[in-house]
Amino acid sequence: MSRYSVNMMGLLFNIQKFSLHDGPGIRTVVFFKGCPLSCKWCCNPESQQAEPCLIGEGEKKTSDSQLYSVEETLEICLQDRPFYEESGGGVTLSGGEAFTQPEFAAALLSALRGEGIHTALETSGHAPAEVFEELSSLSDLLLFDIKHYDGKRHAKGTGVNNSLILKNLKTALDRKIPVLSRIPVIPGYNNSKEDAHGFASLLMEMGLTRVQLLPFHQFGERKYELLNIPYAMRGVPQLHNEDMEDFKHIIADAGISCFI
Ligand code: SF4
Repeated sequence: MSRYSVNMMGLLFNIQKFSLHDGPGIRTVVFFKGCPLSCKWCCNPESQQAEPCLIGEGEKKTSDSQLYSVEETLEICLQDRPFYEESGGGVTLSGGEAFTQPEFAAALLSALRGEGIHTALETSGHAPAEVFEELSSLSDLLLFDIKHYDGKRHAKGTGVNNSLILKNLKTALDRKIPVLSRIPVIPGYNNSKEDAHGFASLLMEMGLTRVQLLPFHQFGERKYELLNIPYAMRGVPQLHNEDMEDFKHIIADAGISCFI
């Protein structure tokens, strides 16, 4: 019998079906409220608060999130089992950051595993070591974002240093947990050629052999207006695949498989 309770409650701001960009195959993505980082480019700013936020305009304001039990979340995820089986997909925990609700996340991952569903965890990696170890051991894949190779500049863009993140990344790799490292490439923050060399050195040092680049987009811009909070990246042009060529080649020249 599982030591995790299916009655555990979690605060979620979305459960998105038919995702093709958050791990292999067709996936359901479960979006957790709460994040210890405050990335200036975050496309889900409502996710940063651990409490429900009101979103919208005037009288039409509604809560951005809802409490779900593990059982309810599992039931929604299992509705698409045939699609997971057909496509090699599964369920991805995202956010926000699933590590901010560790008991709920562990119970959900455990329940999904009990049903034979592939589990992925999309994470910034910023979590206490014991929490990170428990949740990563319940995941079949970590989609692990590395925002900056330099600790001080990491703190400047996200509000936290990268030392705990890199320590947790090393733990996952030492434990042979499958990791797909990803770099959100942000204009004026980490997208120079010098940055590409910095990332390549870090990836090599970690022994990572592949990385996905996530070019900056503006999908979250409207949310800042609806939440009535300032947006540091307002008006900054999006990056397109063709803007990433030099960056990609520098990392590939270091022997790391690099794709978008
Ligand atoms: S880690 Fe992700 S969810 Fe958290 S602030 Fe950064 S971009 Fe947003």
